[in-house]
Amino acid sequence: MRARSLRQWLQVLNTDGMLKHVDKKVNLSYELAAVGKKADGRFAVQFDKPGDSQVPVVTGIGGSRELLARAMGVSVDRVAEHFAWAQANPMECTIVEAGAAPVKERVTHDVDLGTLPIPVHHEKDGGPYITAGVLIAKDPKTGVSNLSIHRLHVLGPNRLGILILPRHLSHFHRMAEAEGKPLEVAIAIGLDPILLLASQALTSPGYDEYTIASALYGQPLELVKGETVDLEVPAQAEIVLEGYLLPAVREMEGPFGEYPKYYGPASPKPVIELTAMTSRMDPIFQTIVPATKEHLLLGSVPREGGLIQIIRNAVPNTRSVHLTPGGTCRYHLAISIDKQNEGEAKNAMFAAFGSSQEIKHVVVVDKDVDIFNPEDVEWAVATRCQAGRDVFIVERALGNKLDPSSDDGISDKMGIDATVPSDAPVGRFERIRIPGEDKIKLEDYCS
Ligand code: MN
Repeated sequence: MRARSLRQWLQVLNTDGMLKHVDKKVNLSYELAAVGKKADGRFAVQFDKPGDSQVPVVTGIGGSRELLARAMGVSVDRVAEHFAWAQANPMECTIVEAGAAPVKERVTHDVDLGTLPIPVHHEKDGGPYITAGVLIAKDPKTGVSNLSIHRLHVLGPNRLGILILPRHLSHFHRMAEAEGKPLEVAIAIGLDPILLLASQALTSPGYDEYTIASALYGQPLELVKGETVDLEVPAQAEIVLEGYLLPAVREMEGPFGEYPKYYGPASPKPVIELTAMTSRMDPIFQTIVPATKEHLLLGSVPREGGLIQIIRNAVPNTRSVHLTPGGTCRYHLAISIDKQNEGEAKNAMFAAFGSSQEIKHVVVVDKDVDIFNPEDVEWAVATRCQAGRDVFIVERALGNKLDPSSDDGISDKMGIDATVPSDAPVGRFERIRIPGEDKIKLEDYCS
């Protein structure tokens, strides 16, 4: 059975020895994030005494592809493919009564974020940040739910500053602001990997990401009505904050250490005012330490799933894609194709660039190259690519504002075709091989 709540997932991790408890008191400023970062990719950590809070904090619940594969119930080489399948086969959710929703065990309309153990992660961060909150909003025109994760700067007991990059939520916010209206939002904290992954899907507007979570669970996700907002929130969440994005209000937000391993600068940003907090009786707070494997992978696996589908529309013989860690799991994409026709590599790159603003450099390789092995990809670039012929650059397209080399988000794009030319003489690009090498066990020869 797949875990359908943070608690169930922590049980799975605990059984596998992949959850460690820290029972000594840790400082919410830096110390908690430092421990989480050291454990990143190895095991999840639960801090039982974070600062002076009675509420424990967990981090690192999805720090490797192996863990995400486990959560999804597939083998590690299938994670992106499986996500693509779920996105193509969404499943409706189910609404439960408040009495059947653990997240309604405690309800307060007098929100004080000071009661939650919200960490300060990096040296120059502007303050405590909620980093693992899935934000729910509805399209003001169609009423369809949308999920996204944003950095949320604690500005006061019931106020959060928010970075909204130009995607679906920014569109809703613009529409609401044009009419001078607030936009209702809810923020769910304390979730299992599946719901976090679903929130990161590359979807067209009007696609409800909750339905991807249902497909991945293999059964309808349970939602419950908000207390003060007309939104449905995950019934199994640990904590839900409700409120609205204020129209025409901007306050200083930032700086914040971001996934590209640089600080996103402080600037005036939109503000959320909170109207209610609901939670379990004994909630667990969750944080994602920015720029860790957990942060990068929770974003990259869903994007890879979306990209596989989009690139296959252009080049059906696309085998797999990888948003590489060195490229912050956002900016660099490696594509493996089973090349049939000259030019396919370029078409695959066009599809990739057209599908995501974040993608900056793309390399396409043949099926014999392992796109999960950076050395193998570099070898293909070194030996199968001639820059004058195989590299193209498009200047000043829309990129990612968090890339410090961009001009406030205006960014060049580069494509590298590292596939063997179709007209190459037979044998010129044959990879050397020693017969029997793969079967040899060195310990049988050298003790
Ligand atoms: Mn969306």
